[in-house]
Amino acid sequence: TAPTAELQALDAAHHMHPFTHGAGLADKGVRIMTRGEGVWLTDSEGNRILDAMAGLWCVNVGYGRQELVEAAAAQMSELPFYNTFFQTSHVPAIRLAERLAQLAPDPLNHVFYASSGSEANDTNLRLVRTYWEMKGQPQRKAIISRWNAYHGSSVGSGSLGGMKGMHAQGGMPIPDIHHIDQPNWWSEGGDMTPEEFGVARARQLEQKIEELGPDTVAAFIAEPVQGAGGVIVPPETYWPEIQRIVDKYGILLIADEVICGFGRTGNWFGSQTMGLRPDVMTVAKGLSSGYQPIGGSIVSDEIASVLGGDEFNHGYTYSGHPVACAVALENLRILDEEGIVTRVREETGPYLKERFESLVEHPMVGEAKIVGLMGSIALTPDKAARAAFAADAGTVGLICRERCFANDLIMRHVGDRMIVSPPLVITKDEIDTLIERAWRSLDEAMAEVEA
Ligand code: PLP
Repeated sequence: TAPTAELQALDAAHHMHPFTHGAGLADKGVRIMTRGEGVWLTDSEGNRILDAMAGLWCVNVGYGRQELVEAAAAQMSELPFYNTFFQTSHVPAIRLAERLAQLAPDPLNHVFYASSGSEANDTNLRLVRTYWEMKGQPQRKAIISRWNAYHGSSVGSGSLGGMKGMHAQGGMPIPDIHHIDQPNWWSEGGDMTPEEFGVARARQLEQKIEELGPDTVAAFIAEPVQGAGGVIVPPETYWPEIQRIVDKYGILLIADEVICGFGRTGNWFGSQTMGLRPDVMTVAKGLSSGYQPIGGSIVSDEIASVLGGDEFNHGYTYSGHPVACAVALENLRILDEEGIVTRVREETGPYLKERFESLVEHPMVGEAKIVGLMGSIALTPDKAARAAFAADAGTVGLICRERCFANDLIMRHVGDRMIVSPPLVITKDEIDTLIERAWRSLDEAMAEVEA
């Protein structure tokens, strides 16, 4: 391969990166990853980096799994592509649908395939509205989401999301999408207890439904634990109250499991960990551990039968791509047979929790929140006041992320929250290394902030 500097120059000349927002990549030079093994990445300079983000929250079984390579190669030779439109199917799409139906909580047992989480949420938008049209209630178009949510980057899924600077960019959002606030007690809870705040935030859903008119609302969409919005673990009172409200008004609940699914929270799905009963689940990322692009919407018999026949005019060339399905199926086998989901729940999750929560002893860390193997810390100049680094929110997070990067640790920052979501195969020793590098990076960031 070419030397790093040459690759960096080519990258700057020709490659537009997602979400760079003018981050000065050309000056800084991108870091070029060349290999992966377990939780470790190697870059073009030979550095070994602990990837505490599992790529983009997706490499659940870790890097370098040869079984997945072989599953892809075998399917490539057998049948590299065929579509699932009209009256054709193939073995990987069928077997994966069967497996997802087994794993998904009742009554979800049908899957509509896509190639990504964004595509799957676009499917959901059309799917829930079409469902209500076919039930004779076409006025139910409104979909309620949450500010700061991330549901993808296409026009539809980006409109569903609620991130500043993105949700309303480039002609978005599409009509009939509404938002309520996220249950972020640390930043927004004021004088309420977390329990009171959880109920108050959930009741915003009821207020929004009443304001819009209950018979105009199609669905509420949310992640069991909001990921890209900052790993916001809701107070325990939040989801029971949300569930009560969606049940009361008979609106569909879409659980976006793109991050929470496939073991991340210590169960197969975050809905199980957080105790919600979705009508639709969005899946992607960990479904194939990122080895192939695949996503999907998992729905009940009831929804599938209402959409049955040939009236739901929707689909992608790569819906149920055979290679992606074969890899996903093998990935699910590994997660299951190696007991990885159970290990997150009973071993590595509790261990990471104990170690990660010790970060609150750092002078710059306010709270540490974690479920399974996804967690975040809030950076603060004043713990008692739960204060933010006000005027320049995100700057300290960015400094911290860059310090981590320099210390060969990949963590992500969202504003002034720092996030971990490592591969689910991380060992206790690797967790110790993660915490040690995070602590060192926090020290360095604090020195820089104070300088
Ligand atoms: N939904 C959630 C909760 C996500 O975190 C993401 C991506 O990060 C998406 C949807 C979009 O998935 P994709 O990037 O595969 O389109």
